[in-house]
Amino acid sequence: MFEQLKFRDQNLASRIAAKIQEIAPKNDVVKICHVCGTHEWTITHYGLRSLLPPTVEVIAGPGCPVCVTPASEVDEAVVLAIKGVVVTCFGDVLRVPGSEQSLLDAKAKGADVRVVYSVLDAVRMAEKEPSKEFVFFAIGFETTAPSTAIEILRKPPKNLSFLVSHRLIPPAMELLLGIGDLHIDGFIAPGHVSTVIGLKAYEIFPKAYRMPTVVAGFEPLDVLFAIYMVLKQLREGVARLENEYVRAVSWEGNTKAQEAMYKAFDIVDGEWRGLGKLPSSAFRLKDEHAAFDAREKFRVRITRGRDLPPGCQCHLVMIGKIRPTECPLFMKICTPQKPVGACMVSMEGTCRIWAKSIR
Ligand code: SF4
Repeated sequence: MFEQLKFRDQNLASRIAAKIQEIAPKNDVVKICHVCGTHEWTITHYGLRSLLPPTVEVIAGPGCPVCVTPASEVDEAVVLAIKGVVVTCFGDVLRVPGSEQSLLDAKAKGADVRVVYSVLDAVRMAEKEPSKEFVFFAIGFETTAPSTAIEILRKPPKNLSFLVSHRLIPPAMELLLGIGDLHIDGFIAPGHVSTVIGLKAYEIFPKAYRMPTVVAGFEPLDVLFAIYMVLKQLREGVARLENEYVRAVSWEGNTKAQEAMYKAFDIVDGEWRGLGKLPSSAFRLKDEHAAFDAREKFRVRITRGRDLPPGCQCHLVMIGKIRPTECPLFMKICTPQKPVGACMVSMEGTCRIWAKSIR
């Protein structure tokens, strides 16, 4: 509790904001990109952008796991559900649009789609009902991939298989650097993912790209500190990898979780919703675990999907190119109650966060 109060101390926040004003460039605009739905929530919910000078812009990258899941993989889950397989998934996956329908639409038509709070819930359901086939639709970044990996390595019941759609964060950060007219000046790297992959996973950004990179936690002061740390590097004309989130993130990260991921999965190229195929950005089950691969077991593979419904600008929101309010559908026909695009579905989606926080 004390820790929490300390990280929300208004006096301290005002002092950091003053320091940010002091070292921010006076004329040129700098763009700092974070890659995490929770960071966007903290920034928007606590109004942190209002504390920044006009020359410091903080943009949201592709840090929402359900937003980046391509429609083709939602379609695979829908096909399985329609075939009579029990599809289990996290709650916010239910409403993510596929090319034609979401899992919630399939459920409304009678398919057996069940919300779980963890992969272990799916294991327990499969054990209880051995006569049915179950699939766990495994989405998320390196934060959730280890728990999927651990259950696969434990040899789950034979009637449970996995539709693996996990993605890796560092390749998405590299993608952003390749977008010519985006011009990012610094990164705030995600705290949760970093507890697993460690600081070392971001070494490439200052070394190869000369990009200031700061791993940060999720309290308002964490984020303000991280912005200050990036600005300080820019002011000094250096690019370092720094750790603001020392209370949770180490250089090596969680080596046990990494070991589980690399025993269960190979790293392959992966589709990201609206962003195309990114090299070495997705996990796929290793051949020795193919018996648990739902795509192999049920021979389902959809290679092309429709990621963006007409008018939807999610691909531009996800790379921080536009703000949600610049999408013509925002809060007109795309709302949290009736989302058109994936960014309006999840609590971690930028459009949804803006819709809930900005009135
Ligand atoms: S407002 Fe809706 S349609 Fe527009 S970018 Fe956001 S989620 Fe996509």
